[in-house]
Amino acid sequence: MKSRSISTFSFLSLVPMAILLSCILLISFTDDFRQQREQMVRRQLQARGITDSRTIEAMRNTERHRFVPAGQQRFAYEDRPLPIGHGQTISQPYIVAYMTQIIEPKSHYRVLEIGTGSGYHAAVLSEIVDEVFTIEIIEALGKQADEVIDRLGYDNIHVKTADGYYGWEEHAPFDAIVVTAAAEYIPPPLVEQLKEGGKMIIPVGSPFRVQQLMLVEKKDGRITTRNLMPVRFVPFRRADN
Ligand code: SAH
Repeated sequence: MKSRSISTFSFLSLVPMAILLSCILLISFTDDFRQQREQMVRRQLQARGITDSRTIEAMRNTERHRFVPAGQQRFAYEDRPLPIGHGQTISQPYIVAYMTQIIEPKSHYRVLEIGTGSGYHAAVLSEIVDEVFTIEIIEALGKQADEVIDRLGYDNIHVKTADGYYGWEEHAPFDAIVVTAAAEYIPPPLVEQLKEGGKMIIPVGSPFRVQQLMLVEKKDGRITTRNLMPVRFVPFRRADN
C-alpha cells in the first residue's frame, strides 16, 4: 500500500517535468525551423535575385514545414521540391518566391491559384494579398490543405475541389492567376477571368519534357506572353482523364 502511494507520488512529480521538457523541445524545434527559414531566404532567394520585400517577408513568415508530410519536415527548407502524396509535389522555395514576385502582388489583390497541392503557395500569397482562391483537382489533397490552412488560422484562403481549367467564375475577375501544374496550352477560361492589367504565371509544355514558365499579361484587352525560364512541373490534369 505504502510503496504504491510512493510510486504514484513520484510518477505525478514527473508529469510537470515531462511537460516542461516537451515545451523546451518544441521551442527549440520552432527556433530551429525559424533559423532554417532565414537561411533559405538569404541563400536560396535573395542570393538569386528575389528582391520584392513583400515576397521575402511572406517567405520568411510562412511555415513551410507545416505543409509537408511529417517524414519530410526536416527537408522542408531545402532547395528542392518535396513529395506531398498522391504523386504530387510542393514546389522548390525559389520557384514559389519567383512566381509570387513576378505577379507583383498588392495588398488589395484577389488571386486565383490552380493547383492547391499542400496549400503552401496559397499561404505565401495570402500573407500579401486580400483574398486567395485556390482550386485542387485531387479531393484528398484539397481537403488536407484546407484542414492545414484552417488549423494555422488563415482566414483569407478559399479552397475548392474541381478541375481548375474552368477557373472560379463566381469570384472572377482576378488581379493575378498562378498556375502550379504544367498545361499543354493556356486554358482560355483563365485568360477570360484575368482582370484588365492583370498577370498570370503558368508553366506551359508537355508533361514529360522541360516546360516554359510563361508570363501572360492582359493590356487593353490584348494578351501578351513572355517565356521566363525552363521548368519542370507536375502535369495539369483534366477531370475527365
Ligand atoms: N501549389 C502547390 C504545388 C502543387 S503541385 C503547393 O504549394 O504545394 C500541382 C498541383 O496541381 C497538384 O496537387 C495537382 O493535383 C494539381 N492539379 C493538376 N491539374 C489540376 C487541375 N486541372 N485543376 C486543379 N488542380 C490541378
